[in-house]
Amino acid sequence: MMSAKLRKQKSLAKCHSMAATGQPPRPRGATPLQTPVLVLNASYEPINICGARRALVLVLKGVARTEEEQGATLHAARVRMALPSVIRLLEYRRIPHQTRALSRKNILLRDRNTCQYCGMVLCTSDLTLDHVLPRSRGGPSTWENLVACCHNCNRRKGNQLLHEMTDMALEREPRPFSLHTSRHIMRMLGSADANWRKYLYFED
Ligand SMILES: [Zn+2]
Repeated sequence: MMSAKLRKQKSLAKCHSMAATGQPPRPRGATPLQTPVLVLNASYEPINICGARRALVLVLKGVARTEEEQGATLHAARVRMALPSVIRLLEYRRIPHQTRALSRKNILLRDRNTCQYCGMVLCTSDLTLDHVLPRSRGGPSTWENLVACCHNCNRRKGNQLLHEMTDMALEREPRPFSLHTSRHIMRMLGSADANWRKYLYFED
């Protein structure tokens, strides 16, 4: 029998590209322009993941340079360009800690596409956001009050308060998205891509 942990990992691997980009999984036959690219700061510190198309734009604008290629080549308007797998910004960008935009995408990323009540790892489209303290009871839309939630748990919880319920509890306390969290996620995602590995493991 498959252990719960293994099952979790497997389903996370399936949701992999979507967790990285917040986009639905890439449809079969989609172009390499949609593959995720690791973005490094000028200091080689990993700071983000973006799509290859966006990475290419940054390279063409002279904002970033390609550090690793992904093997695929773009042919367009008599230009041949190797698509990047890792790019590095030419100018150092200060990344303030804990000041990520509060968005559905970032909440799901922080919670690793895991329902914070039942622990199921799901694709972005199968998750919703739950106000821990319900909006109808004055719960704010903040990092601390929003969690990833499957539709089932969302329905079950409804407008109740958590301490009124005996069968539901949060997997962990919701916190603002920190750079540490995003690095941890990038490390998990990057472990599948040999090109990313050396940039993701150089520090803790
Ligand atoms: Zn759930």
